[in-house]
Amino acid sequence: MSMFNAYMQLSGAIDADVLRGEPLSRRTTLRIGGPADLIVVAHSYTALVHTLDVLAHERVPWVILGKGSNVLCSDRGYRGCVICLGREFARLSVEDTAITCGAATLTSKLVNRALTSSLSGLEALWGIPGTVGGALAMNAGSRDEWIGSSVRDVVVTRPGEGLVRRKASDIIWGYRSASFAPDEVILEATFDLVPGEKDAIARRMEALLKRRKLTQPLGVPTCGSVFKNPKDRSVGTLIEACGLKGASCGGARISARHANFIVNENGACADDVCSLMKTMQESVYEAHGIALEPEVRFLGFGA
Ligand SMILES: Cc1cc2nc3c(=O)[nH]c(=O)nc-3n(C[C@H](O)[C@H](O)[C@H](O)COP(=O)(O)OP(=O)(O)OC[C@H]3O[C@@H](n4cnc5c(N)ncnc54)[C@H](O)[C@@H]3O)c2cc1C
Repeated sequence: MSMFNAYMQLSGAIDADVLRGEPLSRRTTLRIGGPADLIVVAHSYTALVHTLDVLAHERVPWVILGKGSNVLCSDRGYRGCVICLGREFARLSVEDTAITCGAATLTSKLVNRALTSSLSGLEALWGIPGTVGGALAMNAGSRDEWIGSSVRDVVVTRPGEGLVRRKASDIIWGYRSASFAPDEVILEATFDLVPGEKDAIARRMEALLKRRKLTQPLGVPTCGSVFKNPKDRSVGTLIEACGLKGASCGGARISARHANFIVNENGACADDVCSLMKTMQESVYEAHGIALEPEVRFLGFGA
């Protein structure tokens, strides 16, 4: 792999911002992560295709990052290229009861546009940080409602394959998972929504946000829920029952407000978070015989 060749071919040549060695802590809501060898913010489809071609030719591994609100990055950073989607992927349009938007659109903007267009179906996403691309990759939502159930279709690309439009029914939407391939980049999605009364939609959004404010640590660096809820159980309750609320390691602490959230309280490193996660997993397994599965995605922990 030649990172230098990749950098030279990408830098300045395309509609993209190309950065070397920028700490990923600047691009994650947990504010943790060492430097990425390369970061490319591709502002157009052409720039993205060129980036993928160069990276394939130079055998540079890559990963897509949205707003980093569901990611734990290694303190050593990422040996490869982190691709973010820029300007052209942040467009949004409304036609009748459908909204189409690029993967870089903020989820909050999508939900807000649905509200102002008196369209219902996305309220459960209100308050979830990040981009539409990240929300689709994670099938983000609440326990009972998730983004995949409002999708009509998703436009994706893979290295060397051009644009592919996938119908929602061809995608398996699981609990915090969707059947996109690891090298598939989500570019755009269309949502089929239902006409609704604006005040009722707003009231539902407000109620959900109120509950979120009461139960979650907001305005502090976190990556949301660390583990997935086991079937018919609340992971927060299981962790709390182990007496772990408020437990800390280095600069990281299990939130006193919600035991499934880890807060970067004081310059935490990824190892602090991993160590707390291990304690949570071991304690819950010992007390309840349940193996917790991470919801947070790991970046840069490989060889
Ligand atoms: C305070 C807080 C509250 C949260 N509450 C919730 C909640 O209630 N429900 C919930 O589901 N989540 C919640 N989350 C988690 C997170 O916000 C969501 O998963 C969000 O949708 C991730 O979007 P992102 O752009 O930040 O994705 P990232 O964190 O950047 O990426 C997440 C994954 O998606 C992949 N990805 C991102 N963009 C693309 C793309 N264009 N193509 C292909 N793959 C892509 C990445 O490679 C990565 O694997 C919360 C997080 C925080 C910090």
